[in-house]
Amino acid sequence: MPSEFDIIARYFTRKAGRPEILLGIGDDAAIIQSAMPWAVSTDTLVAGRHFSAQDDPADVGWKSLAVNLSDMAAMGAKPVAFTLSLTLPETDETWLEGFARGMFELADQYAVDLIGGDTTRGALSISMTTLGAVDSDQALRRDGAQAGDLVCVTGMLGDAALALRLGADAPDTLARRLSRPQPRIAAGLVLKGVATAAIDISDGLAADLGHILEASDYGAELDLQHLPRSADFQRLAGDDRDQLQLTGGDDYELCFCIAPDSLAQVNESIEDISVIGRITEQQGLRVLNSEGVQVSLSHTGYDHFG
Ligand code: ADP
Ligand code: MG
Repeated sequence: MPSEFDIIARYFTRKAGRPEILLGIGDDAAIIQSAMPWAVSTDTLVAGRHFSAQDDPADVGWKSLAVNLSDMAAMGAKPVAFTLSLTLPETDETWLEGFARGMFELADQYAVDLIGGDTTRGALSISMTTLGAVDSDQALRRDGAQAGDLVCVTGMLGDAALALRLGADAPDTLARRLSRPQPRIAAGLVLKGVATAAIDISDGLAADLGHILEASDYGAELDLQHLPRSADFQRLAGDDRDQLQLTGGDDYELCFCIAPDSLAQVNESIEDISVIGRITEQQGLRVLNSEGVQVSLSHTGYDHFG
């Protein structure tokens, strides 16, 4: 039976690659050199709530870091390092090996270093804190949207929610959108200093855009026909499809606002932007059908903004 220290040494201790990490795992604290402001963010995943103890541990490792890096993307920050607080019911080495493999696969993709953490016994849960470098005057905050801005999203909307609904029937590409979300780091770095506001879509478009509207003190109109949808949505009826796209969480795409003049510039570097609506002086979120008529949708998480 490996001890807490064996687990840390075996699965989580790697030499930090970034030059700004002066001291990594092994001491009472890590030390980071910095000339830049830091963006700092924490996200926790609890077994039975955010994932299942039966899920592929490599997917759980990947997704734990992905949702944390997604917050860096949404700030326009360049992720540098993270810490990991792991609570485990027992030392299942197969699970630990898979978890570490999936987590480091994504960490290596963005060259972010694991610089410390904590390992305790209890109900399975994973908490990470991410640190990213950001120009504070260019950071993508929620409170900068202006009336007349375009409302845009990256990628497709609702794929993760559809995959969750289809379960084992979900095609592979769709299933991976749920199990292996790609944090939109590169898009965030293009948008920083250009977009007026941004958020990552973790709780669903309506709820997350709602946070921008609240912080910015404006409203918005969305055009249903412009919501980007992958081919798998064709099998769904209109209202069901719209609900899923507006309220389905876990996509980890970016929703951002931008002055119409700036769109061409970001379109050159981000290939999958969709313009889905505009920011209005009128408060609240209104959803329009292809005739421009306001539609009301039944879902409760959504009514709140209507
Ligand atoms: P302390 O008792 O001083 O808090 P710990 O025994 O908890 O130290 O941790 C020893 C070292 O291992 C520390 O540098 C800590 O950051 C690191 N560490 C502990 N758990 C993890 C983990 N799950 N992932 C990465 N580093 C960890
Ligand atoms: Mg400790």
